[in-house]
Amino acid sequence: MIDSFAGNTTKPNPFEVAQRQFDIAADRLGLDNGLRQVLRTTKRELTVHFPVTMDDGSIQVFTGYRVQHDVGRGPAKGGIRYHPDVTLDEVRALAMWMTWKCAVVRLPYGGAKGGVVCDPKRMSLSEQETLTRRFATELTPLIGPDSDIPAPDVNTNPQTMAWIMDTYSMHQGYSVPSVVTGKPIDVGGSEGRAEATGRGVVFTIEQAARELGLDLANATVAVQGYGNAGSTTAKLLHRDYGCHIVAVSDSRGAIHNPEGIDPDAAVLYKGQNGSVSGFPSSEPISNEDLLALPVDILVPAALENQITEENAGSVRARIIAEAANGPTTPEADQMLYGNGQMVIPDILANAGGVTVSYFEWVQDKQAFFWTETEINEKLRRIMLSSFDEVLQTAKREKVDMRTAAYLLAVDRVAAATRLRGIYP
Ligand code: NAD
Repeated sequence: MIDSFAGNTTKPNPFEVAQRQFDIAADRLGLDNGLRQVLRTTKRELTVHFPVTMDDGSIQVFTGYRVQHDVGRGPAKGGIRYHPDVTLDEVRALAMWMTWKCAVVRLPYGGAKGGVVCDPKRMSLSEQETLTRRFATELTPLIGPDSDIPAPDVNTNPQTMAWIMDTYSMHQGYSVPSVVTGKPIDVGGSEGRAEATGRGVVFTIEQAARELGLDLANATVAVQGYGNAGSTTAKLLHRDYGCHIVAVSDSRGAIHNPEGIDPDAAVLYKGQNGSVSGFPSSEPISNEDLLALPVDILVPAALENQITEENAGSVRARIIAEAANGPTTPEADQMLYGNGQMVIPDILANAGGVTVSYFEWVQDKQAFFWTETEINEKLRRIMLSSFDEVLQTAKREKVDMRTAAYLLAVDRVAAATRLRGIYP
């Protein structure tokens, strides 16, 4: 089955991709049929159609989803995405990836995801707030600090999380900061959360470069998707390791400068102009060209299905660090692995976000907050040990890094399911 969620071209259905990735690990683990059925299916799915009064007084009905894939290891955890191309199958895939991600880095969470079919870029701030508060209300049967904890994803941000926290708290009659993570610091957010996804990506790139003998000080980097995850990855790679960021892109276009792009200036420019397109001293290129640049490190940080069997052969980067969820299809994975290119899989590479979300939730629950240094040290420890576990598994089992990460994750979730048993 194919789905046209990602623009005009038909792309693989993300949930089928997620299930195929799971099947590869389940086969190798020899998972029995019953457990396989449990883990390749989502546990709970809520679809809501809800009205929002727009600024001009008209009423528009929006569709939103919240999917919990598995809660064997703890409460469901996962972001909420606002995008015109959101589908139920995309949210299912993202929820399943969250389950494996939390298991790879050993967080006591299951996996969930949410999405609303909308284009926030065409909505005023007050329309976004009304939509968010109504969607949060619709999610009330599912979300809660011990049941399902949302966080930011594409086109949602700390402000969105503050609105969700406030709406949920109004219904409870008292403040419940731990119902969402990725909040602003002033309402119970954590130091380091805004940069956590990018920082985690960078820690995994550091380890991959060490393994491959790549000198990061002279490394070139292309970043697809210059949002929260992509721009932070670029900034830290440049500032802390001396990498040259030679190309970046967003939904409106890509830019290239072989001499290097100042990542902070690009963030500023995007903030002022709505896009990196037109950034001074850079050449416009296509998104396809960006993926095929002769760089050392490619960071897909936008959406799913960007590296497929059609273009994987032209990807030349030595390291592909998946800041985005689901950017590479299983066919492309095989091609890249066959070529000796290392893909740091999404469920490992971008797990820094949910890791610091976990820290935020723990801090909210105990109402006692840590310093940014403590947060970053704890994050670094988890990312490094998780990377090492995945790498050692990949070497031992002679498989690619994604399969290795899945072997660890699926095995851990399966163990929890066996221990808990099938109710009743
Ligand atoms: P964001 O909304 O901050 O940024 C997304 C960026 O991608 C935007 O700049 C957008 O213009 C760009 N983009 C969209 N379509 C594009 C295309 N076709 N080509 C190039 N660029 C395109 O979102 P984000 O939070 O940075 O999320 C990006 C990816 O990272 C998603 O896959 C998300 O699931 C994943 N992720 C995010 C977090 C987090 O904490 N924010 C955590 C883990 C994973």
